[in-house]
Order: sequence, then structure tokens, then C-alpha cells
Amino acid sequence: MTDPTPATIPLFLAHLPTAGGLVVPWITARTGDGRYLFGAVDSDRRDRALRGRLCGVCGQPLDERLVLLLRLSDLPRRCSAEPALHPVCTAYTVAACPMVGGRADHYRTTVLPLDATMFPPADGPGRRGAPAEPWFAVWLRGYEVITDHGALAASYSGRTPLRIRPVAGRPPA
Ligand SMILES: [Zn+2]
Repeated sequence: MTDPTPATIPLFLAHLPTAGGLVVPWITARTGDGRYLFGAVDSDRRDRALRGRLCGVCGQPLDERLVLLLRLSDLPRRCSAEPALHPVCTAYTVAACPMVGGRADHYRTTVLPLDATMFPPADGPGRRGAPAEPWFAVWLRGYEVITDHGALAASYSGRTPLRIRPVAGRPPA
């Protein structure tokens, strides 16, 4: 699903490739023939970002304040399988990603051609075609790297978030 008017690409993301007018996040998985799979994640970059405190969108070191984007159903677990983001990169993601920005009613029904180096997207088998969930921005000063279901994750159990806000995207066109 694409928005009729892609979000403007900010200067601090100008070093990243684009596809369909959207910035391709640094952790986005890529097929052997060079196509980007929005929503699916390159496992190696994901782990490098989580361990190295890098932003999942721009790949640069995080600042003092960072944001984890979590679905409603993931909030009680206080951890995210996806890397934290700069606040400015969070704002771009909310503007550009139909799922995070609340402009998609349902998860995709298409199946992405994933391989072993890729981490499945939020609309993996358990969510395919299901109603979309609201997303929340959890503002933090840091996180701990834990192992969750056999993979690394960013946890903030034991930390008090600076704030937790529902993600308010652009209204549907
Ligand atoms: Zn960033």
C-alpha cells in the first residue's frame, strides 16, 4: 500500500536509498536481486543496531533520547524486536509508513520472499490480513539488550519511560 503523496525526505536521511519516493530504512531487508522488502528486517543490521545503540532508520548512533515504536499488544512486554530510533527518524517513519502511521486498516496479505538472513515483518504469519493495531512511541533514555524468543530485543523493563504516546499519523487521504 502506498500513500498518494509520499512524505518529504528530510536532509538527515538523504544518505539512504529510496524506493517509491520513500526512504529505505537502514535495517530494511533486501533480496538477492536488490529489491527492498519494506517491513522485513536485515537480521545482521538489526543486531548491530540493537547492540551498538544505532538508529534503525538512519543507522547512526542514537542520542540521549530515543524512541521505541511498539504495537499495542507488545506494550505490556516492554520490549521491541526492532531497534530504537532518533526522535526525528521516528517522525519520518510515522509520516511515511502506512502501518505505523495508522493509515492502513489491515496488515498486508501478501507474503514477502524472506530468506534466512531476514527478520520477518510485523505482518508475518500470525498477523497477515488481521486488523491493524495502534502503535505507540515509547520515549526512553536507554534500553537493555535481551534475548526474546531466541532473538535480540530492546527491553525497558526496570526503566521508567520518559513518556508513552499514541502515534498519530496523517489522516487518511
Ligand atoms: Zn536515526
